[in-house]
Amino acid sequence: LAERLQGTLDKIKGKGKVTEADVDEMMREVRLALLEADVNFKVVKKFIKQVKERAVGQEVLKSLTPGQQVIKVVNEELQELMGGEQSKIAHADKPPTVVMMVGLQGAGKTTTVAKLANHLRKEHNRQPLLAAADIYRPAAIDQLETLGKQLDMPVYSLGNQADPVDIAKGAVAQAKDEHRDYVLIDTAGRLHVDEDLMGELQRIKEAVQPEEILLVVDAMTGQDAVNVAESFNEQLDVNGAVLTKLDGDTRGGAAISVKAVTGMPVKFAGMGEKIDQLEPFHPERMASRILGMGDVLSLIEKAQTDVDEDRAKELEKKMRQADLTFDDFLEQLQQVKKMGPIDEVLSMMPGANKMKGLKNAQVDDSQITQVEAIIRSMTRAEKEDPSLINASRKKRIAKGSGTAVKDVNRLLKQFEDMQKMMKQMSSMQKGKGKKKGKN
Ligand code: GDP
Ligand code: MG
Repeated sequence: LAERLQGTLDKIKGKGKVTEADVDEMMREVRLALLEADVNFKVVKKFIKQVKERAVGQEVLKSLTPGQQVIKVVNEELQELMGGEQSKIAHADKPPTVVMMVGLQGAGKTTTVAKLANHLRKEHNRQPLLAAADIYRPAAIDQLETLGKQLDMPVYSLGNQADPVDIAKGAVAQAKDEHRDYVLIDTAGRLHVDEDLMGELQRIKEAVQPEEILLVVDAMTGQDAVNVAESFNEQLDVNGAVLTKLDGDTRGGAAISVKAVTGMPVKFAGMGEKIDQLEPFHPERMASRILGMGDVLSLIEKAQTDVDEDRAKELEKKMRQADLTFDDFLEQLQQVKKMGPIDEVLSMMPGANKMKGLKNAQVDDSQITQVEAIIRSMTRAEKEDPSLINASRKKRIAKGSGTAVKDVNRLLKQFEDMQKMMKQMSSMQKGKGKKKGKN
């Protein structure tokens, strides 16, 4: 997909305004990507319409091509569709906060109770109590007790003869006595939504008035997830979803559809069977994952806000012509520094890890500081023509910058590599430029 999109992007490069035809062409690809990701087709249709309305006729920002701009709109709308911001778990004013985990059998409720308990303790310094209210599934109580031991956390249980409502009430009472921050109630599931189950869950809800009912959804069930979510929501008024098994090769379409159809935000994502494999759900990451283009979108955004656009263009031109000086290099470094930790910036560039020059350079932030010091110790002439830097000049520079000659050597080597790389890039650009004209 990324390749196909790239092809379309290349075609519409260099225009000043986004035209309807541009958007139409790109939307064909986006529509395919979404359907491939198993997003509900009604949701896709509405989404495409929204993006078109927003994208057509927009002025193209200086730093972006029209194609990038359309993708940016697509990305923003996708995030919006998934709830925009990351939505957090509830926290009651008066502890304990009662959380009820519901969902079909095998969705991952019991596992998620343990994972969430671990997350709450580790990230929020909260002390949860787990409650075993699934009395039907053989060994469900054992499963939770085993997980509790593993976490060294208490599990409340009355065996499998008790009423789940009493178990829930008892757990909340004990949590109050012991001043615990959270009660996480594991409930029973069925293979399909049925009235018995819903009745029981409603009674538990009535009895303990949870701050949060989380619906656990198996991401691999794709479209079915939406129907399940709708029924649970109708009967229980669910606050949010946990999407499990996103570690497989699922495309995550369920994340979009669930929120778009039912309005419930996805709060957490299960990324594996282990107890620490639960993550707060980030709409923006899921949007890029669905678009299948790495974090290229966040890179566009970062570049857009942090780098002075005109200056960046000028530098880019210089880089193309490969007549970069150490002054430019320094400026470039400072711009990059503004964008955040270097390895993060690099990891967002598709293909960057394949570029040998960059990998060997192994830049990290403390090295940037060192590099800055070295460059500042050079004379103007040296900065413009590094070939002047002989052994005695190297010694002087090292001394002036509080570094060693080997550090100066390494920087000179990196600079040389970078110039070589730019020469290569600029000859590649020229080759392309002939076919397509200026861009
Ligand atoms: P429940 O019936 O809803 O309580 O589901 P369980 O918590 O017993 O989980 C069912 C199965 O799914 C177990 O084998 C879990 O290890 C597995 N599982 C749960 N969450 C995840 C996840 O995020 N990723 C993967 N790969 N497996 C998961
Ligand atoms: Mg279970």
